[in-house]
Amino acid sequence: MATHRALGKHDNGTLALEDDDFLPSPAALDLPRIERAVREILAAVGEDPDREGLRETPSRVARMYAELFAGLHQDPHEHLQKFFTQEYDEVVLVRDIAFNSMCEHHLLPFMGQAHIAYIPNGRVIGLSKLARVVEVVSKRPQVQERMTEEIANLLEEELGAKGVAVVVEAAHSCMTIRGVRKPGSVCVTSAMKGVFRSNVSSRSEVMTLIYGERRTI
Ligand SMILES: [Zn+2]
Repeated sequence: MATHRALGKHDNGTLALEDDDFLPSPAALDLPRIERAVREILAAVGEDPDREGLRETPSRVARMYAELFAGLHQDPHEHLQKFFTQEYDEVVLVRDIAFNSMCEHHLLPFMGQAHIAYIPNGRVIGLSKLARVVEVVSKRPQVQERMTEEIANLLEEELGAKGVAVVVEAAHSCMTIRGVRKPGSVCVTSAMKGVFRSNVSSRSEVMTLIYGERRTI
């Protein structure tokens, strides 16, 4: 098997997109409505929304939500339309695609890395497009399990890949700052399609590629 790791890296070792112009489409969001809601929450928790330090908070939060939920107004399928035809039937793997998302149960961030592997069936996609798909799918109210499954389904549908493996590792702030308060815990989810689902040795091979020499779980 061959692996491809071609994208740039951030200083912390996570994958960087080729460009950072993932802009929200604020027109699709009702910013004044978010502002009113945030003001209402502040009042409801017993704060004074008009005190100096909080005066700009509702509009700041509204703009932040526009960014964090920008993926709601984008279609991840779009990023998978420009594939190229290539006879290559080994594993293509992109590891450590950094993302942050918002847990839909608490509206608190969860963040981590996605690892995506697939075996092409004549259709190969630009590696940065995989990072785009993760970006669009994560920038919306999410649960990690669904996000993992969505990414795998997208690749299977659009590329007709012979096999797709998606592993997502994330730390959930709803588990670390509230509730059970378990800092350092990481949630790992995986979705296996095609040959990675049906063939045990292919699956263990791809898991070894994903985790490599770095660690074992
Ligand atoms: Zn949560």
